[in-house]
Amino acid sequence: MSSVEKFSFHVPSLEELVGVLQNGLKNNFADVQVSVVDCPDLTKEPYTYPVKGICGKPRIIEVGGVPYLLPLVNKKKVYDMNIIAKEIEFPGAFILGAGAAPFQTLGINAEFMPVVQTKSDHKPAVNGSYYAQINPEDGGCLLEKYSKKYNDFGFALLANLFASEGQSGKVIEVKAKGRTGEYNFVTCMRKTLEKHYGDKPVGMGGTFVIQNGKVKVHIMPPEFSSCPLTSDEDVNNWLHFFEIKAPLVCQPVFVSRDPGFDLRLEHTHCFSHHGEGGHYHYDTTPDTVEYLGYFLPAEVLYRIDKPKETHTFGRD
Ligand SMILES: [Zn+2]
Repeated sequence: MSSVEKFSFHVPSLEELVGVLQNGLKNNFADVQVSVVDCPDLTKEPYTYPVKGICGKPRIIEVGGVPYLLPLVNKKKVYDMNIIAKEIEFPGAFILGAGAAPFQTLGINAEFMPVVQTKSDHKPAVNGSYYAQINPEDGGCLLEKYSKKYNDFGFALLANLFASEGQSGKVIEVKAKGRTGEYNFVTCMRKTLEKHYGDKPVGMGGTFVIQNGKVKVHIMPPEFSSCPLTSDEDVNNWLHFFEIKAPLVCQPVFVSRDPGFDLRLEHTHCFSHHGEGGHYHYDTTPDTVEYLGYFLPAEVLYRIDKPKETHTFGRD
């Protein structure tokens, strides 16, 4: 059993968040529309999730952390989604987010896009996750569906997860077109929440689609670094960066302010149906970019297996 710490977020009403996000996003995007809507059916394209929505007991789970990857990898840090769901007493949880792929199964390091309905008493688990690796053939980006080759529910080292009962219900819809500011879509929402809510931490997660434009992403190399990476510069020289194209489905988890759990404040991974995916940095086509997302505020944060020794690099 890993260590589990729990924290209750400040949970504003959806109506209040609509106003706050509308105001903040309009400083960074030319055309912004935020509203409360019924969650669209997420079993449909482009999401193709195993459940219909992101509603019901929304929670954020942060597992492990960058200190288990850098300066050198700690290969003892392997996890399982079904065990994580059990540890937070949430069997059957639908989990989305961003993390490190299960090297223990793949035999290589890669980016992970978890999409998992964990097991419950009456239903077996479903793994709809993706992973993105450096293509060994040509050094490009290679995204694959995890269940095509593997049957387990593992991941490794670190993950930022948004869990819910996977039900339909009311959510916040955000439409943003034409980026006029310096922040990426997720950073803009996070900083907006921090500015408005200050020392009352608000956490959010969900899913959004980049419908038009291109995006800068990174993918970790297949081999962990054998020499210690001790700065952002070292890390950026180790990572591989790509520009990939829409449509991309992105899975963000973000927290306005760290209430003292050594959190990664935002983490977003994306997948597609055209073989591209990775860790989202920002769009490279501000004039033509179009975002469409569905989000909910989380009620509770679970911090699992927090590193005892920490640092601040490699968090971008
Ligand atoms: Zn990442």
